[in-house]
Amino acid sequence: MDKNIFNILKKYFGYSSFRRGQENIIQSILDGNDTFAIMPTGGGKSICYQVPALYMKGLTIVITPLISLMKDQVDTLRENGVNASYINSTLSSKETNDILMSALSGHLKILYVAPERLEQDYFRNAIKDLTISMVAIDEAHCVSQWGHDFRVSYKRIVPFINIFDKRPIVAAFTATATDEVKKDIINLLELKEPNCFITGFDRDNLFFSIVKNENKFDFITKYLSKHKELSGIIYAATRKEVDSLHQKLISQGYSVGKYHAGMGDKERSESQDLFLYDETKLMIATNAFGMGIDKSNVRFVIHYNMPKNLESYYQEAGRAGRDGEKSECIILFSGQDIQIQKFLIKQSIPSFDRQRIELKKLNDMINYCMTTSCLRKYILNYFGENYEVENCDNCINCTGNVEIVDITLEAQKIISCIYRMGQNFGVTMIAEVLKGSKNSKVLRFNFDKLSTYGIMKDCTLKQITNLINTLIADGYLYLSDSEYATVKMSQKSIEVLKGYKKVVQKIHIVEELSLSTDNTLFEILKALRLEIARRENVPPYIIFSDSVLSEMCKYYPKDKNSMLQIKGVGEIKYNKYGEIFEEKIREYIKETNLTPEDNNKGTLKVPELLSKKIPTHIETFNLYKKGITIADMAKIRNLSIPTIQEHILKCANEGLNVNLDAYIPAEYKDLIYEKIRILGTSKLRPIKDALPDDVDYMAIKAAICKYTSKNKAI
Ligand code: ADP
Repeated sequence: MDKNIFNILKKYFGYSSFRRGQENIIQSILDGNDTFAIMPTGGGKSICYQVPALYMKGLTIVITPLISLMKDQVDTLRENGVNASYINSTLSSKETNDILMSALSGHLKILYVAPERLEQDYFRNAIKDLTISMVAIDEAHCVSQWGHDFRVSYKRIVPFINIFDKRPIVAAFTATATDEVKKDIINLLELKEPNCFITGFDRDNLFFSIVKNENKFDFITKYLSKHKELSGIIYAATRKEVDSLHQKLISQGYSVGKYHAGMGDKERSESQDLFLYDETKLMIATNAFGMGIDKSNVRFVIHYNMPKNLESYYQEAGRAGRDGEKSECIILFSGQDIQIQKFLIKQSIPSFDRQRIELKKLNDMINYCMTTSCLRKYILNYFGENYEVENCDNCINCTGNVEIVDITLEAQKIISCIYRMGQNFGVTMIAEVLKGSKNSKVLRFNFDKLSTYGIMKDCTLKQITNLINTLIADGYLYLSDSEYATVKMSQKSIEVLKGYKKVVQKIHIVEELSLSTDNTLFEILKALRLEIARRENVPPYIIFSDSVLSEMCKYYPKDKNSMLQIKGVGEIKYNKYGEIFEEKIREYIKETNLTPEDNNKGTLKVPELLSKKIPTHIETFNLYKKGITIADMAKIRNLSIPTIQEHILKCANEGLNVNLDAYIPAEYKDLIYEKIRILGTSKLRPIKDALPDDVDYMAIKAAICKYTSKNKAI
């Protein structure tokens, strides 16, 4: 690839290398081909057309559906020193004319327009005779009726492209990868023998989890109390739910905005701006919020209800961590979510064929919430990507970051009560009977005569309801498809009643998300950024993203040379803000008396290796090497003991120097190996049951680890 392309990338965007896929896409455009790229949200689509736009002669027109996105993109580009503008209905005719003049003079490099604009004669006439290097179509799935954001105005794109004597290169971008949408985009946009690129769908900075067994609102407050300073989105299924959640959080003193289609335009855009400008940290919204929201420092996306399919989920969840920093995507799942989604599909889709497709997609979504294997692997496989790794170490199922509680007895009480009530009632009524309520409906059905009446009187109604929902979420019970969902028993519940199966509840351990960085300096730089952003009237992340600040806190750049090595600091940005930030960093170093080694960091070339993240199990291993116990490592790292144990075992499996014998009690060593030999290594439970109680799982896992590595040193 031409060296100048890298110069553009560094100078205007501050990056030294391309992300996966970007280079090939750009090369395809530069070679003059129509190009179609599917990249996940946050994957870095914009640069794929912005870099060639700056390289090629002429003007690039970017068609994008949302006004908010245009402004954001143009502000960012201008901050980077790129001559870019947008034309939309918010501008006066004088402003629009000025922009068209600047296009005619050849100064303008990138022009964002909404598709509606394309059929206006004055616009066509003004633009027709210009040299247009490329028409880039963002959110290209909007052209397809199969996509979830269909826009009639996207049909105007092809007639618009045809007005030019010399057809410009057409490049289409989307994050939606289903086959129908793909075909539709190529056909309806009349792409000419396009080069198609599907870049990896993995977003390795995102941690995925499902919370099934907890009261949703309690979880939210627990989570928010640990993540006060961070920006996040909570998606709820309906406007009503958004309003109620918003109200509840406001009354608890949280700074929260809301967004849904039932609000007025003004109220909605104010709420959105406050969020973009970091004035409110949290946004509660329906899925109407988000397309085109380019806020890079969203640290978590929580789905209050299970979404209808994985396409929507991955797109919404993908709004977390666009800056590449560690972020979290959580679904709060309950059995009722299945009912709601089925109901919505049946209500909103008249065609039976289409309903069948949507129900199948819903089923895949449910399976995602139910699977006990790697969540990342599930998603990537769903999108047709081969993900070889068994254990990503970055989702709840791989890290096991949960506390396990045995609830077999409670489950038996609940199931036998449901059985005695004839499997004909909903969750609330069952909970009332177990609680021993004197409510008239309970008495009318004579449920106070049941042996299970009041057998859980020591629990609150809410606890009982949560337990029932847990059993539904884990498939021990299920909800009927009827209008009033009644709770039914499954094959699994019979096994629990007979005592063949133990039931455990997994409680999510909420860990603090933190940027791997010097927090004090980070806060100082954030305050400086906010001050500048307010002055310039742009969202803070447009000045510098969180990941840029985070790098500054890692490497303490003190001069131009070292500042330019920070990812995301290009020359133009440096000229604008570099020195103010350097000054703050120098002040901080002086005040805090950082060691000479730290002091030197600013003048050192940032080594490539240093900027790579250390895998989490290796961070644990670094503590292990210092002789710290598992319990203390768990405290220091704020992780659960089972997670630390898994890390140690992983290190041992990777051949690192771990003394596994230390975890295997000497007096039972032979017995443990004997049981392993007899019972095999695929299931731990039978081995545990065959051993004395004081042999814990770590001992068994350590022994299996040694046993499977060719009986080394037994
Ligand atoms: P999307 O694909 O959702 O449109 P964006 O184009 O908004 O994603 O990019 C997401 C983030 O990734 C932006 O903050 C962008 O600056 C950053 N980014 C894009 N390309 C690179 C790169 N080569 N190196 C580092 N960061 C990048």
